Amino acid sequence: MTRIHRLEDAELAGKRVLVRVDFNVPLKDGAVADASRIEAALPTIRYLKDKGARIALISHLGRPKGKRAEEFSLAPIQPVLAELLDTPVLFVPDCVGDEARQAAEGLMQGGVALFENLRFHEGEEANDPAFARALAEPFDLFVEDAFSVSHRAHASTEGVTHHLPAFAGKALAREIDHLSTVLRDPKRPMMAVIGGAKVSTKIDVLMALVEKADILAIGGGMANTFMSAKGIDVGKSLNEPDYADTARKIMDAARTHGCEIMLPADVVVAEKFEANAPSRTVSADRVGQNEMILDAGPESVDAIAEAIEEASTLLWNGPLGAFEITPFDTATVEAAKYAAKQARAGKLVAVAGGGDTVAALRHAGAYEDFTYVSNAGGAFLEWVEGRALPGVEALKR
Ligand code: AMP
Repeated sequence: MTRIHRLEDAELAGKRVLVRVDFNVPLKDGAVADASRIEAALPTIRYLKDKGARIALISHLGRPKGKRAEEFSLAPIQPVLAELLDTPVLFVPDCVGDEARQAAEGLMQGGVALFENLRFHEGEEANDPAFARALAEPFDLFVEDAFSVSHRAHASTEGVTHHLPAFAGKALAREIDHLSTVLRDPKRPMMAVIGGAKVSTKIDVLMALVEKADILAIGGGMANTFMSAKGIDVGKSLNEPDYADTARKIMDAARTHGCEIMLPADVVVAEKFEANAPSRTVSADRVGQNEMILDAGPESVDAIAEAIEEASTLLWNGPLGAFEITPFDTATVEAAKYAAKQARAGKLVAVAGGGDTVAALRHAGAYEDFTYVSNAGGAFLEWVEGRALPGVEALKR
């Protein structure tokens, strides 16, 4: 794999640096409701400041679809960022054109500007070359620090790299380093835990993992499709019969590559999909006609914990059950806690990511002890699939 260019490789003093961050933060009543994504960008911004660069930050927020819309303005981020950095931040009401150019030209060494939402322009998502050129025009260098959007070839992730030398920021480099450790050269045995609602959304992830992992535990609603494909009656459970063949192909590929697939031996079933619905634990082949599987049972969790105990590397995506409703969060919580304990003890490299996984691990109180948790959704899954991400490839040119 060709090396990506890193921030440490760049000559930064006095340079005008355009930095793509992910400030797509949740807003509530016009204020930032969760600053995690802003905090994630601080190491790169501080490094650039220390080196005497002139810094302009660009990001998207929400889906304004190429039109200016105040509800998607990045303005509420400016005071939060200024406070976290303990430095003034200039808010610039456009990311291209005269205002952007004047702001870039006026920046002092170590100065920070925040440009308005990229997606107020159609050219951003269309990766329009003219828009990419306009973005790049006032700058000397580009830094990509938003792994979460690097699977999209947009003007701010790919287009600009045709006009400026491009470098990986601290957060993006850290993310790639952790994901590479787990996926390219894992310490074995390597285990993957993949849960979530549907097989159909994770076919490529599962196919990629049976080639890489020594053991793959499948949980959540998607395990039902695998059990059903093996001839087990799953009652009223979430099931995708159209994907039975796909499930069989994944199981065949696992056999070919010497990957052991673990499916739940016992399950928690209920007749209603709601919190505290009356439930019982049964063997996976004893689900009643009116029942649905909402969680893995204790035997299954023990088996997963044993496999985690043996493993040196763990990749986790997706919950093992309907974790948003008690008590069907039990398997996810117990297994995640066990993985966290092993990681804390230095016995396991535990990396997780993708969509609901972050929420599930936070809910389990396991987030802090995992070696690394990626906040990227689609980009994380595409990386696991082994696809080339345009925003990362552009850093190798
Ligand atoms: P995903 O986005 O594919 O990772 O799926 C996460 C969703 O799967 C969560 O909302 C869970 O509630 C749901 N889920 C997990 N297990 C089950 C299950 N056995 N039946 C129905 N939904 C489930």
